[in-house]
Amino acid sequence: MPNPSPTDAIVIGAGPVGLWTVFELGLLGMRCTVIDTLSGPGGQCAALYSDKPIYDIPGLPVVTGDGLTQALMRQVKPFDPQFHWQAQVSELQLKDGLWHLCAQATGSKKAGHYAARCVFIAAGVGAFMPKTPSLEGMNDLLGRDIFFEIPPVDRFFDGQQVCVLGGEQEAVDSALALLDAPCRLDITLMHRRDVFRADAATLARLERAKSEGRIRCQVGQPTRLLMGNSAKQSLTGLEIDTPHAGLGSLSCQILLIAQGLSPKLGPLSTWGLQMSRKQLVVEPATCATSASGIFAVGDIVDYPGKKKLIVSGFHEATQAAFAAASILRPQDNGPLQYTTSSTLLQKRLGILE
Ligand code: FAD
Repeated sequence: MPNPSPTDAIVIGAGPVGLWTVFELGLLGMRCTVIDTLSGPGGQCAALYSDKPIYDIPGLPVVTGDGLTQALMRQVKPFDPQFHWQAQVSELQLKDGLWHLCAQATGSKKAGHYAARCVFIAAGVGAFMPKTPSLEGMNDLLGRDIFFEIPPVDRFFDGQQVCVLGGEQEAVDSALALLDAPCRLDITLMHRRDVFRADAATLARLERAKSEGRIRCQVGQPTRLLMGNSAKQSLTGLEIDTPHAGLGSLSCQILLIAQGLSPKLGPLSTWGLQMSRKQLVVEPATCATSASGIFAVGDIVDYPGKKKLIVSGFHEATQAAFAAASILRPQDNGPLQYTTSSTLLQKRLGILE
C-alpha cells in the first residue's frame, strides 16, 4: 500500500454511531477521516428508514431517520471531519505503528489509501452495497458501461440504448430522470416481474412515458453481458431470460443497475479480528477489539448484554473515544470536562474563539 499522510483516527461507517464517534473524538481534540460505502451519512437511518419516526433518542421525543442524521451532521461540523463516500474499506494492515486502510470505490476500480493511529469500526449490519445481478465480466465494465447511479451527461449520445434494471422506486425514478437527458435516449426499464413498486405519482408518470413511447418496459432478467468484438470490449447488449419467450436479447450500450442496497459484512471478516456470530468481540469498558488501536462500536459489536440500539451505540462511541485518547494523548488525561463549563471544549466546538 502507498504511504498516505496519517490522521488521528479513521471511522469506518457514517451511521449514527460512526457520526457520534466523530463527535466524541472531536471533543477530545482528535481529527477524523470517515469512510462509507453509501453516498451520504446516516447508515441504516438513511438507507432503511429515512422518513420513519424514531421515539427512543434521549432528548428528542420524535425524530425521523433523516432528521437524526442531519442533526448529527450539524453536531460534528465544528470538527471538520473528512468524509469519503461510496468507498468500501477492503484492507486493514498495521505498518510501522500506523493502521493502513485501502478503500475500494463502489462502481469503479479506483482505490483510496488512508493511515491513522486508531481505527473505529462502526460498520453496523455491514457495508451497504448495490444489489447486483451475477453477470460474468461485469466488474470490468463498472464505471464505463455499467453504473449504479445515473452517469454524467457527457456519457450519453443521441439514440443511445440504456437499460435500467430494477422494479422499485429507485429504478422507476432513474428511468424517468433519463427522459431529461440533453440527448434523446432509447430507454428500457427491465424488471423480473411486470409490476413496479413506486409511489402513485411516479407510476402515473411511468404509464404516461410508456404510452408516449418514451420508455419501454421489459419483463426479464439479464443472464449474460453481450460485448462487441472491438478491442475496447464495450457493452452491446444483454442476453435476457423472459418468463414467456425464454432466452432473448436486448441491445444496450449502458446498463444502469438500480435494484436497491443490501448490507454485506464483506472484507471485515478477513481482518483477523476476534469475531462471534458475525459480530466483533469487544471489551465493553473500552470497545477495544482484539487488535491494539482498533475499536468497534454500534451494531457491529458483541459483548454480554449488548443491545442493538442507537443509544447503546452512542455510549460505546463515548467509551471508545476516551480509551483511544488515553493511548494517543496520555498527557491530556486530566479530570473529566463538561461542555457546559469547559472553555477548552467550547473552543473545540467553535463556541468560544
Ligand atoms: P449502521 O447504521 O448500520 O451504519 C453502518 C455504516 O457503515 C453503513 O452506512 C455502512 O455502509 C458502513 N460500512 C460498513 N462496512 C463498511 C466498510 N467496510 N467500508 C465502508 N463503509 C462500511 N434503533 C433505535 O435505537 N431506535 C429505533 O427506533 C430504531 N428503529 C429501527 C428501524 C429499522 C427499520 C431498522 C432497520 C433499525 C432500527 N434501529 C433503531 C436500529 C438502528 O438503526 C441501529 O442500531 C443503528 O443504525 C446502528 O448504527 P451504526 O452506526 O452502528 O450502524
